[in-house]
Amino acid sequence: MMSVEEALARMLADIQALPTTQVPLPEALELVLAQDIVAQEDIPPFSNSAMDGFALLSSDSQPHAGQSPRLRVTGGVAAGYVADQSVTEGTAMRIMTGAPVPPGADTVIQVELTRSAGPQSDWVEIMQAVPPGNNIRPSGEDMRKEQTVLHKGNAIGAWEIGVLATLGWANVPVIRRPHVAILGTGDEVIDVNEPLRPGKIRNSNSYLLEAAVRLAGAIPHRLGVARDTIESLREKFTEAIQHDLIITSGGVSVGDFDLVKDIMTEQGHVDFWRINMRPGKPVAFGSIGKVPLLGLPGNPVSAAVTFELFGRPVIRKMLGHTRLQRPQVDVVVEDGIDERVMRRHYVRAWVEWRDGRFIARTTGNQGSHITTSLLHANALIIVPEGGVQVQPGESAKAIMLTWPEV
Ligand code: AMP
Ligand code: MG
Repeated sequence: MMSVEEALARMLADIQALPTTQVPLPEALELVLAQDIVAQEDIPPFSNSAMDGFALLSSDSQPHAGQSPRLRVTGGVAAGYVADQSVTEGTAMRIMTGAPVPPGADTVIQVELTRSAGPQSDWVEIMQAVPPGNNIRPSGEDMRKEQTVLHKGNAIGAWEIGVLATLGWANVPVIRRPHVAILGTGDEVIDVNEPLRPGKIRNSNSYLLEAAVRLAGAIPHRLGVARDTIESLREKFTEAIQHDLIITSGGVSVGDFDLVKDIMTEQGHVDFWRINMRPGKPVAFGSIGKVPLLGLPGNPVSAAVTFELFGRPVIRKMLGHTRLQRPQVDVVVEDGIDERVMRRHYVRAWVEWRDGRFIARTTGNQGSHITTSLLHANALIIVPEGGVQVQPGESAKAIMLTWPEV
């Protein structure tokens, strides 16, 4: 049986980043830049004051004979305006934060270090000597014209949005979001708004996967549930192949009604369909037509965990990300894992930082049908192949799914 690492590598080898598009700046959040961003002007575009105060010549701020110099105030300049005159020897201009430094002035003194007769005062006393350049933010100090500020492949967060706005990018070239078809399978599976009837269960997988696909950055399309017949599956797949990726749940094992592999063979190909892991041995990968298909197990916990391990990195690669996997940390498994599993075992756990270490507690019964084992889990502890036991207090690696706030 294939290892988790080989399975993921084979999937990713088959997946390319999607084409580039332009989106309005606010919609670029969490997408990936499709080209380098080069500054077209200096930022700040003009030298400006970092403080409310007075613009003057540094040489005029030196005390003589122990006396604070007194300068004539010739006017003021507010943010958004340009001074209508120069600062000359023996004079100063009132200046606000963000206002352009008037010609002639080489320094700014903050208002707290001056004395005057109030906002209209036509004189100011300079209580402290200030060096040239004091409180002046030179043009180009942040970004230089022609400088490459962001690179193709960078992920766009709120701070990148701010820099793009600063540079005037009202529309941003990005890799477009994948559209993902989500398909449930099984005669037993009914929709959430239906009352339970004998033998039936509600479709939790499609809703869980829809949410997880959206969190991964793609656009989910829930296509309902295919019956356990070739005809029903064929019909659903006709719609599914309109999308960039198809994710199914159920129907990929070895039962009589596990027909997803049959359709893949008929209309595309099966690359592999079993991975040496628990939960989630039956994971199929291949295609329908030219559309990649990820066939996840039916058991809800298996579907959830295998989406995290395979579905999410596949979607991130389509989005153009280069960092595809969640971070791992070393944890101390407080309660231990006594169950011996021959396959690679991913154990749901809550991990938190305590006393200078990451401490993990498992979330109880790890059966692949125990959906409550997913609740209050923010990590997957990785137990290596071969029936390894983890004693209470022993260390292990864990994949962090979310980082808890403190
Ligand atoms: P299968 O792989 O189709 O044999 O399904 C394995 C198990 O997962 C069975 O107990 C199914 O009833 C269950 N299952 C399949 N699809 C879903 C679904 N969409 N939501 C919840 N459970 C499901
Ligand atoms: Mg089934």
